[in-house]
Amino acid sequence: MPSPRPRPARLFILAALLAALLPSLALGWAGIQHMHITRAAARNVPNEMVGFRAFARPMVYPSMFPDLWRLWDAAEGPRHYFEPDRLPPGFDLGALSTDRLHAFRNQLSVKPDLLGIGPWTINDLMEDMTEAMRTNDWMWAARCGSALAHYLGDLHMPLHCTRNYNGQETGQYGVHHRVESDMTKSFVGSQDILPPPAVYLDEPFRAIMGWCLESADAAVEILTADRAATAVAEGATDSETYYLKLWELTSDIILERLSSAAGNLSSIYYTAWVNAGRPAIPEPFEELPVFSIFSGVGIDPPEFENRQRSSQQRKYDLIIWSVMGAICVIVIASSLYRGAKLRKALKAK
Ligand SMILES: [Zn+2]
Repeated sequence: MPSPRPRPARLFILAALLAALLPSLALGWAGIQHMHITRAAARNVPNEMVGFRAFARPMVYPSMFPDLWRLWDAAEGPRHYFEPDRLPPGFDLGALSTDRLHAFRNQLSVKPDLLGIGPWTINDLMEDMTEAMRTNDWMWAARCGSALAHYLGDLHMPLHCTRNYNGQETGQYGVHHRVESDMTKSFVGSQDILPPPAVYLDEPFRAIMGWCLESADAAVEILTADRAATAVAEGATDSETYYLKLWELTSDIILERLSSAAGNLSSIYYTAWVNAGRPAIPEPFEELPVFSIFSGVGIDPPEFENRQRSSQQRKYDLIIWSVMGAICVIVIASSLYRGAKLRKALKAK
């Protein structure tokens, strides 16, 4: 549903909300990086799928919505990460079932909210997208593709693939936000994202797991770089010295991860389309609905609305109870008055 509020105002409000909540949340790349990845991926599909490139327009902006759904839907969080270092060393990720419930019931001893369910979410959405394309439901295909873009982008952010995601196990608290948001927003532009050509994926789930392992390896390097940059900046992790050093040490990793995210996402889109039977691609939509494809929550804060509604409700309740109380007092007083008057009249007789 289109918003009644102008988009810039809404974006500003949402950005303010995100900023307020950031210390307690690891959200993934900044919204702008998710948009860069989605745009680059949609434009990167092979020529035979050229009609899909125009879908970049409606899909780009909603690719940051999952971080907003996450604010209002408790089940949303685990879709944004996968932490293979919670599993025993040498664990064969490639042997995991694509059926998430089966995998967690029979193959894994870690709970889904701890390990994260990003790979299964992406795989399931790719299958949904395939079926939607096959049945000519391009609105659903675009919605799945846009959400999928977010989750795939998150799994290419190295700190979404380690249990030490915020440096909390090594005294590097805050590194998540410093890397993915502060540094990346300052140093990376859309022109820096250079995706490799899209390819058909024979085994998408295995490929997704492989991308997670690449991110997990990169996470070790990022955390090492953070320690080095912190030392150079003499502990001042909010200083220019720190960020310049951190970028010097991690720029190759960050640009590779962002470019790979876009390339791999275009491979997912291409594979979904080929598996759907290479259907004709229609003109894209103007915009996509803002609601979660999982829970239906929107991007506005329901808590605030509820709080406002409940304060209004309390006001109405107070008025109703005051009126009812006043009526009771009048009825009782009138009854007492009439009783007293009757007793007086009887006495007079
Ligand atoms: Zn996210």
